[in-house]
Amino acid sequence: MTDSLLKNLSLKSLMGLLFMLSISCNEKPSNAKLSSLALSIPDIVAPADSMHAQKQTIISTPIQYDTTKKYIYLTFDDGPQHGTTACVETIKKEQVKASFFMIGNQINDVYLKKLVASIRNDYPQILLANHSFTHAGNKYIYFYHHPQMAFNDFIQAQETINIPFKIIRLPGNSAWIGANSIKTSPLVRPVCKMLDSAGYNVIGWDVEWSFNHKTANPIQTPETMLELVNHAFEKNYTHTKNHLVILSHDRMFRNANFTDSLQKFISLLKQNSNYVFETVDHYPNLKKPL
Ligand SMILES: [Zn+2]
Repeated sequence: MTDSLLKNLSLKSLMGLLFMLSISCNEKPSNAKLSSLALSIPDIVAPADSMHAQKQTIISTPIQYDTTKKYIYLTFDDGPQHGTTACVETIKKEQVKASFFMIGNQINDVYLKKLVASIRNDYPQILLANHSFTHAGNKYIYFYHHPQMAFNDFIQAQETINIPFKIIRLPGNSAWIGANSIKTSPLVRPVCKMLDSAGYNVIGWDVEWSFNHKTANPIQTPETMLELVNHAFEKNYTHTKNHLVILSHDRMFRNANFTDSLQKFISLLKQNSNYVFETVDHYPNLKKPL
């Protein structure tokens, strides 16, 4: 941690963090300790001004699926927030792939822009994707009943976060849009049709690692999560056979004991040689080019 970064952790940063912790798919964590955040974000040298130029260098190369394998897509929603850095460090330590769906209006100072830029530059190991600009203000019914407003919100996020590919996860709703398919609830169908026409893909989820809405701590143990994953593959309870998307949230793993839970879960999955970790740009049947 350099002096300059410490200076960047200004009152504005802390106010921003308070705000972003108030935005979630469900409820804000009540016991988040912001004071340790300064120690959890690594020193990142990539200047925020270089983000646009780097956009041109990120290209998704199609992969050949191995029919003997099963593909796992780890996804983390609602970042950047307290816990994002712990997740990134765990993924790198375990040498697996994962995707982060981020919220535009939470990236409100240079410090967080640098964190997001570093994640963007971690591709192809880590993919940065679109989770809207405002997270619907957590007023999902109103948001989705105003599809043009919702559409504009996603476009604003795409541009301000500098998302490399047209891949979105809807706030508070699991929906799927690919090259030739749309699977949504009636509530989100209007905005999904607009996103589809604009060339976007939408990724839902098959299995969620749930969290306590008061503490934000994970509910299931790593062993239980492994059973859920195995079961979903065995029973073909996935949107696409042999491809499974796991939803979790960065903040669940902000404390060391729960960071360990994430690491344990990943290590358990890795023990199955048939499981392959991928980023969501390699999910089957997305629009090309991304
Ligand atoms: Zn969310």
